[in-house]
Amino acid sequence: MRPADVVVALDVGGTGMKCALVRADGAVLHTERHPTDAERGPDAVVDTVLGVAEGLAGKARADGLDPVAIGIAVPGVIDEARGVAVWSANVGFRDVPLRDLAQARLGLPTAVGHDVRAGGLAEARLGAGSDAAHVLFVAIGTGIAAAHLVGGAAATGAHGAAGEIGHILVRPGGPRCGCGRPGCLEAVSSASAIGRLYSARAGAPATAAEVADRAAAGEPLAADVWREAVEALADGLATGQALFDVETVVIGGGLARAGALLFDPLRAALHERMTFHREPRLVAAALGDEAGCLGAALLALDSLEK
Ligand SMILES: [Zn+2]
Repeated sequence: MRPADVVVALDVGGTGMKCALVRADGAVLHTERHPTDAERGPDAVVDTVLGVAEGLAGKARADGLDPVAIGIAVPGVIDEARGVAVWSANVGFRDVPLRDLAQARLGLPTAVGHDVRAGGLAEARLGAGSDAAHVLFVAIGTGIAAAHLVGGAAATGAHGAAGEIGHILVRPGGPRCGCGRPGCLEAVSSASAIGRLYSARAGAPATAAEVADRAAAGEPLAADVWREAVEALADGLATGQALFDVETVVIGGGLARAGALLFDPLRAALHERMTFHREPRLVAAALGDEAGCLGAALLALDSLEK
């Protein structure tokens, strides 16, 4: 690539999209954020995504840069080989051929990827996992999802659904998960589950961040809910380690902001669960909520090398 070459990167979420112009060396030259307004329906969202991408390509050209490819990260089940958003509940996509639509409208090669796998790609190559060849990236927010990265590439699975660690069964008969089954990891340890479980027991609403603060302040109910979430998370990560044998587990998403309050007990609980497996290094994500957008840029850059 030439010095003026950039890729257009978009990370499309349920509420907003993070966008950037990124150079081949990973330098971010320009960023934008736009609302997704998913309630308008999939056609309108696709039109917004393509319009924003077009605007970014135009901005690049106006700045004397040359947009050479597009990378788009989307949540849900993504068929990366075909560039199709198979099912994205958050943005209302079902079988949307996003890659073909973007290529047709902008005339640029386009890569479409899964948002958490894109985030994991960025953390593994540029962020907290960059010194390891085998990395598990776990994003904990509204839900829990993961990406397994080997040598800087993410495994997608046969159907584009690899990494759904949030739906490991950790508490049979436990709280019902959004997927319909009781006891999934996501139903106990996601930020929204922590808030929900505490609120149900306390009889008053609270967010996971508030539960964390109250647990740190010594409130017994908050400490119980927090401990249960950490224990279940350690069960999930121990299963992940049995499957993937990674060097580094990178924890991202909103819950990682709890810092030592999460990482200290989680390390101890994971340590207890290791028998013959090597214990992974457990670290906080380094790229924050930019990871998905940077990962989309990496997908676009990778697609040019193929
Ligand atoms: Zn589930």
